[in-house]
Amino acid sequence: MKKTIVKSKELTIENRIKSFDEVVFGYTEEEMLEEASRCIQCKNPTCICGCPVGIDIKKFIYQLTQKDYKSAYETIFQKNRFPSICGRVCPAEYQCRKSCVFTPKKSLYASENAINIPLLERFAGDYAKDNLTFEHNKKKTTDFNKYRVACIGSGPASLTVAGELSRYGIKVDVFEALHSLGGVLCYGIPTFRLPREILYYEINLLKKYSVEFYTGVIVGKSIFFKELQQNYDAIFIGTGAGAPVWLNIEAESCVNIYSANEYLTRVNLMHSYRFPQYHTPINVGNHIVVIGGGNTAMDAARVALRMQKINNIDGKVTVLYRRTEDEMPARKIEIEHAKEEGIEFKFLVQPVKFVGDENKKVKGIVCLKCELGEPDESARRRSIPIKGSEFLIETDLVIVAIGLKANKTLQDTVKELKINKWGDIEVNSETMETSIPKVYAGGDIVGGEGTIIEAMGMGKKAAKSILHKLNIKF
Ligand code: FAD
Ligand code: SF4
Repeated sequence: MKKTIVKSKELTIENRIKSFDEVVFGYTEEEMLEEASRCIQCKNPTCICGCPVGIDIKKFIYQLTQKDYKSAYETIFQKNRFPSICGRVCPAEYQCRKSCVFTPKKSLYASENAINIPLLERFAGDYAKDNLTFEHNKKKTTDFNKYRVACIGSGPASLTVAGELSRYGIKVDVFEALHSLGGVLCYGIPTFRLPREILYYEINLLKKYSVEFYTGVIVGKSIFFKELQQNYDAIFIGTGAGAPVWLNIEAESCVNIYSANEYLTRVNLMHSYRFPQYHTPINVGNHIVVIGGGNTAMDAARVALRMQKINNIDGKVTVLYRRTEDEMPARKIEIEHAKEEGIEFKFLVQPVKFVGDENKKVKGIVCLKCELGEPDESARRRSIPIKGSEFLIETDLVIVAIGLKANKTLQDTVKELKINKWGDIEVNSETMETSIPKVYAGGDIVGGEGTIIEAMGMGKKAAKSILHKLNIKF
């Protein structure tokens, strides 16, 4: 008999849109067991090939069906130290779920039928958080605390390096420019997708393993890279891609045109939704337009909508994207949630200039209609603007969410560090070593897919290389 797909319960829409509470509840034990039992334990588990870090998905799901939750967690932990985080935010519909045997071959993304691997992973991670002591995390620590490694940035790439190395007793210091830890997990992804207690739990666990965190330290400004080179046996650079990409069109400097990074940082990190108790103000428009089709755009749109509701503004939020919904790189579940919450979408639209009022406040966007052409290098169909199809969208606040690039603060001060034309650090993709010996890099600062799991995977590779360089057997 065909088993039914188990969906997780979610916060009601009315309760979602005026709060930052987590939307997806995750499985209860009963729901988890039902979903895990749908896995047919394939002889050739294609799901594993879809996981960027190669978690033995078939095995951990089997262990879940046996209620052996500790082993299920340990199976995941061998490849991914943060299952509670990845179970919430991994774009599984383009990865493991897309490769699950229940997704028809050649699909662009996972079918609904595919086993809900991330929610099962989340269950195992949350179980471990609530029930395990984590003593298994510790490897033999013999004399390795004589070694010191510095990580620059505290995003998922650096946290992974810190976690992997501290298991061996190596002393790891993490330097973070912001006053809070976690990188995008803290300043970018809203709490309704990733509650901060999950992140802080993982960070506190690292502190238990003697990882030390120094916040408010910009390497390259507040301390110099050379100082780190003198004091550490190896350095890992995980500075991410924190600089916004702009459209570079007329009047983009108008008031009330934010980059998504600034908007999200003000709300997520600086708590401007609780202004004036918190001191960071934010403008909230009546018609907010978000430009872009990725996760950042979805987060910005959903945060903007909550800002309107919290401030009792009966407005609307519209997302503009130059291709169609099929080509949107954002997670499908985020697009669905955004739609359910009342966000409108306009597809096949390309902004060509902004229009400001006499005070240089944005009041409109002139756009061109587009059509789809042949696929480009990203395999998504190209968007081709249609000449003469200009039209105006009225708006009083715009959030530009078309991409992020490397922030070069550090690179500019370390001339020996080889970078490519985009400002990303060049590494040996096997070892993650940069052009400077004993200096490694990973995560968004070296380019790639720009996902959390990929950043963690690179962190894991770099940690292995560092262990190797220090002659530590693992
Ligand atoms: P980051 O997370 O970018 O962290 C880098 C850290 O380094 C930052 O805290 C920064 O302040 C610090 N830093 C920078 N320069 C210095 C310096 N000189 N000195 C000290 N510290 C420095 N991916 C997914 O898989 N799923 C999602 O749902 C998802 N949603 C996203 C939503 C948003 C809004 C954004 C922006 C990204 C999202 N991503 C998502 C992408 C994902 O978050 C990134 O790929 C990932 O965080 C990259 O990790 P990282 O460790 O390379 O760097
Ligand atoms: Fe289970 Fe799907 Fe993996 Fe097969 S491919 S083992 S059904 S998760």
